[in-house]
Formats: sequence, structure tokens, C-alpha cells
Amino acid sequence: VSKENHTQTSTVMVGNAPIGPSSVTLIAGPCAVETPAQTLEAAQMAVQAGATILRGGAFKPRTSPYAFQGLGAAGLEILADVGREVGLPIVTEVVDARDVDIVAEHADMLQIGTRNMQNFALLQAAGAAGKPVLLKRGLTATYDEWLMAAEYIAQRGNLDIVLCERGIRTYEPSVRNTLDVTAVPVMHDLSHLPIIIDPSHAAGRRDLVLPLARAGLGAGADGLIVDVHPHPEQALCDGPQALVGEAMDELAQLMATLPALLGRT
Ligand code: PEP
Repeated sequence: VSKENHTQTSTVMVGNAPIGPSSVTLIAGPCAVETPAQTLEAAQMAVQAGATILRGGAFKPRTSPYAFQGLGAAGLEILADVGREVGLPIVTEVVDARDVDIVAEHADMLQIGTRNMQNFALLQAAGAAGKPVLLKRGLTATYDEWLMAAEYIAQRGNLDIVLCERGIRTYEPSVRNTLDVTAVPVMHDLSHLPIIIDPSHAAGRRDLVLPLARAGLGAGADGLIVDVHPHPEQALCDGPQALVGEAMDELAQLMATLPALLGRT
């Protein structure tokens, strides 16, 4: 995945949606798929804001075993149905190598979450699944460790990998994680893989999502992945970070203006 022999960042196609240097890709949707109605409403919000890829978790990697773990296979069906209904390709997380086949059957892109960045069996299985992979940075991973995780996928013959900076653990307790904006230009320098940022999981707070999105895109990120929810106060997962209402208008405004300003159409 090194930049050697590459003059520019690669473009990864997810269905018909590009992620690469010529665009600013918005991936949006609910943190977790909860019901068909909630997923559809969130997907419609995503479309309104300019998203070209729908996100949604069916297998959720939760810190507490008592928290909502996702709907599993039923959630995949809901997400795939909703994706078809709104006309967007879908990305969803796979947390276990044994689930790679079923997730790849439904999804246009597989997501490897922060907690599994060094789950090497999972990386290899995802690399062999024939679908693009969104590889989130581990909570405490160095750039080299992150790139080596990408190599596990690439080694299986799959170079359709998109990196995602989603915040790292630091000593600052007032936000959930610290978005490492530096990762964007450094990874662009080291690797030809596109890189997007996840301001929702970085901040854990709705009010910080747009400022962090601007920072990441300003630093050269190839896109954003954000959580949206029609009723965040009822969300079964990460409601406080989900965009809704005016914040969605702000996101739509950002997507309508920023790509042209950045010279990306
Ligand atoms: C997610 O995107 O749903 C998620 C759990 O993200 P992360 O792995 O970055 O915590």
C-alpha cells in the first residue's frame, strides 16, 4: 500500500461511488440499524445531505456486553433493502472472520472497526472477500501499524482499501477521542490509499462533528463518514453524536460548497 510507484492517491469504487482524490465522498447513516423505518429515515437524511454511500451497523462492537449488540444478519437485510430503496451502495462493519461471507453477500464495502484493526485473521478474510474494505485506525495504533494492517488485506490481492482516521485515545477526557488530523497528510504521503475521517466517532458529540469535518477535509481527506439518526434521543447506540435537524442542513451546505472550493468536483 506504499506510495512508491504511485504518483497520486488511488480511487476506490464502492458500487458506483468513488472515494479518491477527485471527489469529497460523504458516507452517512445510522450508527446502528435498529428498525426498517429508522434506517430508511436516516438514509433519506443522508441522501438529502449529499451522501453517495450509506453506512449502518448490523454487527456492533460494543464496549459493554450488556449494550445493544446490533441486529446481526437481520440488520444486514434491512440495510441492503434500504440501500436499494434510496439507490446507495452500503458499508457495514464485520467483527468476526466467520461473518465475512454473509456481510460480503449484502454489503458493497466491508468495514473493519477500530477494535479489530489488528485482528489479522479478520483482515485476511476481509481481504479475500472480493469487496472494498474501509479500514479504521486502531484506538492506539501508530501510522506504521495501521499501514501494516492494510498490508494484511492487500496481501490477499485486494487493493481496494480506504483508510479512516476516527480519533485516537489521548489524555484528554472531555471528548471521547482526539481526531488526529495530522494522519491525513502523513498517510497521503506514505500510502496511495485514500483516507477519510470519522468525526462522529472521534468526538462522540454532535456539536463537534461539523468543525472536525471541516478540519479533516481542509487537511486533504478524501471524504467523511458520519452518523445520522432521525431521533437521536431514542438511538440504541451513540445517539449523542448523531446529526439531526439543523446540523444536517449544515452538513448539506458543507457538501454543496466545499468540494468546489477544494478543487474536487
Ligand atoms: C462504527 O463506525 O460504527 C464504529 C463502531 O466505529 P469505530 O470502530 O471507529 O469505533
